[in-house]
Amino acid sequence: MAKLVYSFAKEKTEGNAKMKDLLGGKGANLAEMTRLGIPVPPGFTLSTRACNEFFAVGNKVSAELKKQTMTALRRLEKQRGKKFGDKNDPLLVSVRSGAKFSMPGMMDTILNLGLCDQSVEGLARTAGDRRFAFDSYRRFIQMYGDVVLEIGKAPFDDLLNQLKKKRRVSQDTELTAEDWEKLVGQFKAVIKRHTGKPFPQNPEKQLWGAITAVFRSWNNQRAVTYRKRYGIEEGLGTGVNVQCMVFGNLGDDCATGVAFTRDPATGADYLYGEYLQNAQGEDVVAGVRTPRPISKAQSTGDHVSLEELMPRCYAELQKIRRKLESHYKDMQDVEFTIERGTLYMLQTRTGKRTGLAALNVAFDMHEARKISRKELVKRVEPEMVVQLLAPIFDSKEVEIARKQGRILARGLPAGPGAASGLIAFTAKQAEEMAAGGKPVMLVRAETSPEDIGGMLASVGIVTSRGGMTSHAAVVARGMGKPCVVGAESLHVDEHKQQVRVGRQILKKGDILSIDGSVGEIIKGKMDPHPSEIHSVLVGKKLKASKSKLYQRFSKLQKWADEYRKIGVRTNADTPEDSVVARAFGAEGIGLCRTEHMFFGADRIAAVRQMILSESMDERAKALKALLPMQRKDFVGIFKAMDGLPVTIRLLDPPLHEFLPTKPAQIKQVAKQMGVTVKVLEERAEQLREMNPMMGHRGCRLGISHPEIYEMQVRAIFEATIVARKRGIKVHPEVMIPLIGTVEEYRELDKRVRAVAAEIEGKKKVKLRYKVGTMIEIPRACLVADDVAREAEFFSFGTNDLTQMTYGYSRDDVGKFLPDYVNKRILPADPFQTLDQEGVGSLVDMTVKAGRKANKKLKVGVCGEHGGDPASVEFFNRVGVDYVSCSPYRVPVARLAAAHAALTGGRGGSGTA
Ligand code: ADP
Ligand code: MG
Ligand code: MG
Repeated sequence: MAKLVYSFAKEKTEGNAKMKDLLGGKGANLAEMTRLGIPVPPGFTLSTRACNEFFAVGNKVSAELKKQTMTALRRLEKQRGKKFGDKNDPLLVSVRSGAKFSMPGMMDTILNLGLCDQSVEGLARTAGDRRFAFDSYRRFIQMYGDVVLEIGKAPFDDLLNQLKKKRRVSQDTELTAEDWEKLVGQFKAVIKRHTGKPFPQNPEKQLWGAITAVFRSWNNQRAVTYRKRYGIEEGLGTGVNVQCMVFGNLGDDCATGVAFTRDPATGADYLYGEYLQNAQGEDVVAGVRTPRPISKAQSTGDHVSLEELMPRCYAELQKIRRKLESHYKDMQDVEFTIERGTLYMLQTRTGKRTGLAALNVAFDMHEARKISRKELVKRVEPEMVVQLLAPIFDSKEVEIARKQGRILARGLPAGPGAASGLIAFTAKQAEEMAAGGKPVMLVRAETSPEDIGGMLASVGIVTSRGGMTSHAAVVARGMGKPCVVGAESLHVDEHKQQVRVGRQILKKGDILSIDGSVGEIIKGKMDPHPSEIHSVLVGKKLKASKSKLYQRFSKLQKWADEYRKIGVRTNADTPEDSVVARAFGAEGIGLCRTEHMFFGADRIAAVRQMILSESMDERAKALKALLPMQRKDFVGIFKAMDGLPVTIRLLDPPLHEFLPTKPAQIKQVAKQMGVTVKVLEERAEQLREMNPMMGHRGCRLGISHPEIYEMQVRAIFEATIVARKRGIKVHPEVMIPLIGTVEEYRELDKRVRAVAAEIEGKKKVKLRYKVGTMIEIPRACLVADDVAREAEFFSFGTNDLTQMTYGYSRDDVGKFLPDYVNKRILPADPFQTLDQEGVGSLVDMTVKAGRKANKKLKVGVCGEHGGDPASVEFFNRVGVDYVSCSPYRVPVARLAAAHAALTGGRGGSGTA
């Protein structure tokens, strides 16, 4: 017979920390702690296998499971010297759910199981405390009624509140034994009324009621939705832990609490947490009373810490903290209870932390020789780097805000960084207020594409609905704005022009602050500071040697570089961006979009003239004016990237994007060109397209207007010569966008080389350069071998490639993508994280075919995906040479590439 139940007790422990699949995280770690000799109340775990068998036979408890459970229970009775359901000295247990991953929606824990009208009297006698016994009993009835019988908490809470009012007390602790006894009677009546049956007095029946409720909760709606959303397998099942009770509510020498083995915000090496004196379990998180700090070091108010109140237990907790850390070699998040001066541990798991804490904890552990350098690099999630670079609030100020009760809500941390601004409820308001020079915080139920202007005008964005891939989240991240989404406790009322949170109401113009790195929403003004690392690297306002944080960050990056196999470049269009990217460690430019230079105030007129000219002559005139400007731009970029490759993409977007739209602009251009407004409008009308993104753009422009590309290529090579004369090492790479056929490529490649040859002849120099193409049209992937025989490099434009492969217009996905993600038609937004199955297999295929046809082919990625850790992992696996991403994501990509290499990827040739 398969083993279904595993005991944990100092006499005998059958599980261990590695058995999370079978025992769930909680059960596996309870077993592990017991093995380590840490005081854990004994108990046993019904395995996930037991859960799945329960489902397999139509939600029934098999005879085998019953047998193994009862054997474990009898063993527990022996170990404790108490009997389950005994009327004189009853053994009480908790029943706790515990899957491999902790999950909202899973059944809540039930405490004090085994109490009934008879045994409660026994408990009162043996504990010598009647008040405690009935306090425990009323808790049990409420929890059982709520989670097993599904009556909810409200009928019980209402009765408790009535009683407190009647007794004129505010704290549970002020109620007496008689009060609790009376309440127990009322609670039992509630159960009877709601279920038609009396509260079960048979402890064994209670136990199975609770166990099967945990099993069933695996399939409740909230848990199912959560698993879907985070891609957790359905078939895992949950474990159930049955554990002897210890009591934190037996008097003032008792307590219960939760703690981190280090400060989860900063990583500082001390016990950080909260506790309540004379309380049980959930009271700490439920907010029944205000919990107090565990360590003196963390207390800012006048609350007495556990360190001061119970120094002996605190010292013991310290000892356990060290033991756990040296065993797990990572920061832990623990739950504990103190019963009459004796400490018991009830849970441990890896603690969630901020980016700052992750970095500090990893370094501290490495310096203490607990983890290797490799492990250190793996411990910091690439995405956490964004937090380290984003603006922040001072943690002391946040703590003060917390004490003042100004933390209004918590949502999803959708866009990292801190911001503070005046509330606006519509995009229009935001734009108007911003125009008045005010920092604006846009607060909406959700955003849509019409809100873009308002989002751009705001310093931060808050929504009450939506997830991490909602419109607000995606757009805000793209804009680099702090953003919190899905803050469900906010009631945003656009008509009343107010937002309500609980009893607090905020109006337009009130100040709201957000920390998009953690998802916190804070009432009132807070000051965002640039991150320390940013101040060193970009602002140059802080000496590197003065910042320990910077030292650690740069070491982390350096070590990541030692492990990674693929290069990291940046997408940059200006000398300024290039300088920033280089400071962040970019190894060249993977994508320089020349059209961005066309929008400058000093050139847009010439660009418009170029586009609207009827004759070659006129166009040539305009191009001639543009040439020196582009050349100058390139010289600046080459200088910033001295010694590194710079990939320059020739003009890509549809021409009409540059056209004047406002009457005044049209008039001006007409005047410049010496034509009438009417003629100009007609010409503009001719350029209109039905589907511009699939229209006259990319290399198609180069085919029909060769002179445009020729001017750009000339500017590139002339700039190369100018820069070389100044002692700058230049490695230009000319990139032709949007090809779909090898003939397109051949035609344009020939022209690029012709311009180069002409310049070489004229200036008597030898130019070194590469010519290659973007791969962004599925057809190009299908003929990759042919193209690779002509081109020196490929660079995947994964944004367009995704758009074209799915046939989703990138500019219109806001209308349907959220539905797709919510309904799990798509696992994630494919424009954020590469679709490995579809788009990814095109990439893989293209790399293979291209390399086979041309051994020297260099392959890069320059879409947004180049900065997305999961996508980087994939690119590393298919063996690209480098990824390229926006400057601020370069450090993320460096670390992601190292993670990819360390977890077994292969990488390309290793050069950017
Ligand atoms: P969650 O997963 O929601 O944290 P737990 O199963 O950890 O649920 O239980 C919540 C709290 O209940 C624990 O932190 C602890 O305070 C209390 N608790 C659980 N089991 C016991 C027990 N055997 N003795 C005393 N308290 C317990
Ligand atoms: Mg817990
Ligand atoms: Mg493109």
